Amino acid sequence: MSDILEVKDLVVSYGKIKAVKGISFTVGEGEVVSLIGTNGAGKTTTLRTISGLLRPTSGSIRFRGQDLTKVAPHDIVSLGLAHSPEGRRIFPKLSVEENLMLGAFSRKDKGIRADLDAAFELFPILQERRAQPAGTFSGGEQQMLAMGRAMMSKPQLLMLDEPSMGLSPLMMKRIMTTVTTLQEQGTTILLVEQNAQAALKRATKGYVLEVGTIVLSGTGSELLASDDVRKAYLGED
Ligand code: ATP
Repeated sequence: MSDILEVKDLVVSYGKIKAVKGISFTVGEGEVVSLIGTNGAGKTTTLRTISGLLRPTSGSIRFRGQDLTKVAPHDIVSLGLAHSPEGRRIFPKLSVEENLMLGAFSRKDKGIRADLDAAFELFPILQERRAQPAGTFSGGEQQMLAMGRAMMSKPQLLMLDEPSMGLSPLMMKRIMTTVTTLQEQGTTILLVEQNAQAALKRATKGYVLEVGTIVLSGTGSELLASDDVRKAYLGED
């Protein structure tokens, strides 16, 4: 598997506080890579830095060999990285379809309509309610919309920040099943989650982040079987 994303010795600070303290990881073509860790571990900071919304203090981020650390966020989207943010950040007053179309802002090709249909196929509720204001959606439906919107940029790498947050077990299962579906359709995924069980079950590879440092890495099944992960993240004695 060739790596499409390579993060090396990444340090990200807020003023004097280092939130990410020199992490390195890779995402190979076709993989689902999970970054897990508790509140404040630096997961969101890492994704926001890859997307160009934050700038690193040091270290490199290479996407297909190109350094992203000086590229503007909208150009990073055009290069093929999409970010479904923590908290979803949908536009509540815009319709479902308008929200989806915003995901395609960087595209000039003729395939946008077909991808809108693909998003509707992935999440039929979005089609049923395409004309309604997105603010009327439940948390789970908003998560579907956020993922659908990210897919509208036709990404080579989809980054999902805590898609399961605040969802019922059933809705969480639905969202996580979609992660697998997207991978089967050829999308490479970087998944940030506090829900270690759900995230590692689907991961080809995982990294455990603790206060800005990667403390453990391995295949999803290796990490799920690890005593440290079971005790710290799966609530086992
Ligand atoms: P969560 O799951 O709670 O979002 P996380 O792993 O995504 O956690 P981050 O949000 O990346 O963690 O936060 C990492 C550290 O950086 C935390 O200590 C947090 O308090 C700090 N931090 C995050 N955003 C800011 C900010 N805008 N200004 C100052 N410190 C921040």
